[in-house]
Amino acid sequence: MTHTPDTSPLAGLRARLGDDLVMSGPDIAPYCTDWHGDEVSDAIAVLRPQSTAEVTACLRAARELRLSVIPQGGRTGLVLGAVPDAPATQVILSLERMNRIRRIDAAGFSAEVESGVVLQALQDRLAEQGLFFPLALGAQGSCQIGGNLSTNAGGLNVLRYGMTRASVLGLEVVLPDGRVLDLRRHLHKDNRGLDLKQLFIGAEGTLGVITAAVLKLTPQPEQTATALLALDSLDGAIALYQLARRQCCDLMSAFEFLPPLAFDLAREAMPDLPVPLSPDAPAYVLMDLSGSGLVDIEGLMTRFLELGFETGMIRDGVVAQSQTQARNLWLIREGMNDGQARRGRHLRTDLSVPLSALPAFVAEAEAAIHAALPGAVCVSYGHVGDGNVHLNVLPDPGGDAGAQIAQAKEILNAVVARHDGSISAEHGIGRLKRAEFEAGLSDTQRALLAGIRDLLDPGRMMNPNCQLATTDRP
Ligand SMILES: Cc1cc2nc3c(=O)[nH]c(=O)nc-3n(C[C@H](O)[C@H](O)[C@H](O)COP(=O)(O)OP(=O)(O)OC[C@H]3O[C@@H](n4cnc5c(N)ncnc54)[C@H](O)[C@@H]3O)c2cc1C
Repeated sequence: MTHTPDTSPLAGLRARLGDDLVMSGPDIAPYCTDWHGDEVSDAIAVLRPQSTAEVTACLRAARELRLSVIPQGGRTGLVLGAVPDAPATQVILSLERMNRIRRIDAAGFSAEVESGVVLQALQDRLAEQGLFFPLALGAQGSCQIGGNLSTNAGGLNVLRYGMTRASVLGLEVVLPDGRVLDLRRHLHKDNRGLDLKQLFIGAEGTLGVITAAVLKLTPQPEQTATALLALDSLDGAIALYQLARRQCCDLMSAFEFLPPLAFDLAREAMPDLPVPLSPDAPAYVLMDLSGSGLVDIEGLMTRFLELGFETGMIRDGVVAQSQTQARNLWLIREGMNDGQARRGRHLRTDLSVPLSALPAFVAEAEAAIHAALPGAVCVSYGHVGDGNVHLNVLPDPGGDAGAQIAQAKEILNAVVARHDGSISAEHGIGRLKRAEFEAGLSDTQRALLAGIRDLLDPGRMMNPNCQLATTDRP
């Protein structure tokens, strides 16, 4: 009996890479599902390299077999950038086994880490040395450094430390053709020409695979004061933010806006969560002041709140008296996301406008949604200090959720455009926002973006349907 050789792509991958690197079959199902479970797909295999050399081997194998590669970190991305959409031709490249912290240079305030390191694991290791990587977000127990850099993540601390790209000193990237671009530097200043590493930060896996990064660290805040404040309006929240920015000597590390509905939503997800203020004010703010060394953070918070009450900007407020109380206040912010998910499919947005335009923008956008979809509920909240608002829309349960979501998205995009804002303040483009992103590009922008992509990846092997359509080639 003669055996017909197995010429399938999977066999080709196994032949080139060995069984340890190639996972297939039912085990890959979780890798093919996005965070919310809205998108369930499939792929030929999941490749799980453990070293930079193995990433090179994976990319070369995929190239020879004419397969596309979807780089994947912790799969917490919210724009469908890390999950496949063409099962017959795509492989997932998971960085989860590249999870070593290569070096912490405490004296130089830097660390070199592999891209599969989970953000929380890094923070735990750094805390042992009194250090901190200034990125904090709800997904930090699952997201990975490679994913954080590839999405240029924002999060709670942007108003003090900037987006992720501001905290990256160096990078190691495997290019689509397998070459290693070694830009690992521990230099806090390096102005030698174009800063090539910035190309890969925010590229969402379209230009290569980030395998390691040198991160800029700060001293871990030794004192944090957390307050939940009741206010009269979103305008009042922006005014309070401006006051805090001037009065708190750059020690404000988070300033989150919450609507009164946040308490109900959080309680729907966590019924026992204590809510220390009555939910009858029109607006709430959750803020942190933090610092290390000789500063008196508690005293600063007390003086700031006195000022806020004296000027009538704050109606009511509580300051956490323990770490547990602080944690519980922040759980309101985190729990409201789960609460929205429990109410079913809804529109999640990540919008930004110039800070001073934010109240007018939210008022106009919510009014437009209510006029078109009277039964829908708007939930506007988020990192408003950065001009960033998650203006989510929960559809009327009696109607077609999909149609309402599509209509709400169109309405919001139009209002964002009128305010010269962004459809993606921090989550990126992925596949989810590609159409709107492309529609907003000028011809010159489009030509440059496509040209950079074609220079690095002429075959469009990397994450082909992410950010730009594959057909968009010069
Ligand atoms: C509860 C929750 C809260 C969140 N809060 C915030 C927030 O406050 N701010 C914010 O900005 N985001 C937030 N996010 C979104 C998400 O956590 C971030 O985008 C995060 O940075 C993604 O990291 P990840 O490892 O999960 O990446 P993944 O989801 O796995 O991948 C994201 C993108 O990066 C690419 N990629 C991943 N690793 C690599 C690599 N090594 N090389 C090249 N490309 C790679 C993927 O192809 C994909 O396009 C939140 C998500 C959740 C679920």
